[in-house]
Amino acid sequence: MMKLLLKLEQTALQTPDRPAYIVGTQTVTYGELVSLAKRDGALLRREGTSPVIVYGHKEPAVVRAIVACLYAGRAYVPVDVCVPAERLQNIIRQTGASLVLAARPVCVPGVTVLSPDGLECFSDREPQPNGNRIAYMIFTSGSTGVPKGVPVSCENLENFVRWEQTLPCLNGLQAATVCNQARFHFDLSVADLYYALCGGHTLAAVRTENSLDFAEIFRVLKKSDVAVMTPTFLRLCLTERDFNTENYPKLSCVYVCGEPLPKPAAKTLLERFPRLCLLNAYGPTEATSAVCAVRITKEMLRDDAPLPVGELSAAATEIFIENGEVILKGKSVCGGYLHADGDAFFVRDGEQCYRTGDLGYTQNGMLYVSGRRDGQIKYMGYRIELGEIENAALRLPGVRACAVVPQTAPDGTVRAITAFAEADAFLSPDAVQTALRRTLPSYMVPKTVRILPSLPVTANGKTDRKELQKQCRT
Ligand code: AMP
Repeated sequence: MMKLLLKLEQTALQTPDRPAYIVGTQTVTYGELVSLAKRDGALLRREGTSPVIVYGHKEPAVVRAIVACLYAGRAYVPVDVCVPAERLQNIIRQTGASLVLAARPVCVPGVTVLSPDGLECFSDREPQPNGNRIAYMIFTSGSTGVPKGVPVSCENLENFVRWEQTLPCLNGLQAATVCNQARFHFDLSVADLYYALCGGHTLAAVRTENSLDFAEIFRVLKKSDVAVMTPTFLRLCLTERDFNTENYPKLSCVYVCGEPLPKPAAKTLLERFPRLCLLNAYGPTEATSAVCAVRITKEMLRDDAPLPVGELSAAATEIFIENGEVILKGKSVCGGYLHADGDAFFVRDGEQCYRTGDLGYTQNGMLYVSGRRDGQIKYMGYRIELGEIENAALRLPGVRACAVVPQTAPDGTVRAITAFAEADAFLSPDAVQTALRRTLPSYMVPKTVRILPSLPVTANGKTDRKELQKQCRT
């Protein structure tokens, strides 16, 4: 049995009434979670051995199904209700799943759809032998338009859980409440789900199914000691002026991951919560949620220097730079995409490596990410990193976030660059361009600057660059 299940059982034995998971008015205690998931797990072993689709949003049945799959030794594939039917069917086809454990009604031809309570129907079947070592599969968007399955092994996951528990500010907490923002099909949620359940803490979920319900977000944050979120979500929280230590005295740690942390957001957070521990974590789905993290200090925010994304000596896996690209090697790296050889993966010295596509460098024991390899464009013959323009814009007073998108002609040549700046209305596009001209060569200054009250956000809580591309065309 996985070590992380032993930890879960230990909490269930010692404090069965402690809440393991809370969403809205529903609570599941450790005692209930372990006894239900164990029972479900035994029944799942009778149903088959293929990966199990876990469909829903933040219902307690989703968490119960995830834990049940771990007990059964069957890979779970979380699929949020925001995933359209066609994509769900594609995921089912790719995984060969025979069962959807659904917390919500869903119609998928050719597979059995059951709620966890419905698993009883397999009780008269024989348990299947199972040598599966995959804990879960998360589907990320593939550049070809077909979702790519990332199978994360039990060893990858156990390594992540061990590493995360050593992080500053997270390692000493007892019976904490951990705020979950991410949908369970986004690998950021791996960080809060397993930190909470393996540490005997309580996971308190924010429902993010439709538009963001700020009343719910702040209700959950009010009782949370730790919050795990994307930097975009953090910026949204910071638009509420009352989000400060006086009103949220319990909040002691915010863990962000998934995209660059804008300095203005980090600054505002630490001004409003002077004693809070802000962890900037970095990693891709292909290397189990996150591989390194660093506590952001006020000193790091003082000058213009970029923010680090992790301490190398305390990383979950080996990290090195090759031709300017961040390469991950070892225990965190998954075995490769489902049904694809993918040249991003390779083996060196007998260990699995992953080319992240992130441009980065190391300095004074820290990892820095400076942009994406694919965020590099050629414009009028000049080589430009879009991240550099974004960072220059972020240094301007009043700019809270910035995304720069290129407009390309059908032949792929970049015809123009547009900057979308999230800023207060008093800041004009002209003022941004004038200020950027002071720090950037003229060819890097975006021809168009648009000021928005907030940047659009994807279902995973990151900046929606595709939507911004569309806006460029209007
Ligand atoms: P995902 O697989 O959705 O978690 O996305 C992984 C990608 O998000 C990484 O390859 C990076 O490009 C980006 N990313 C994750 N964490 C950070 C961070 N702290 N700073 C900058 N970029 C990040």
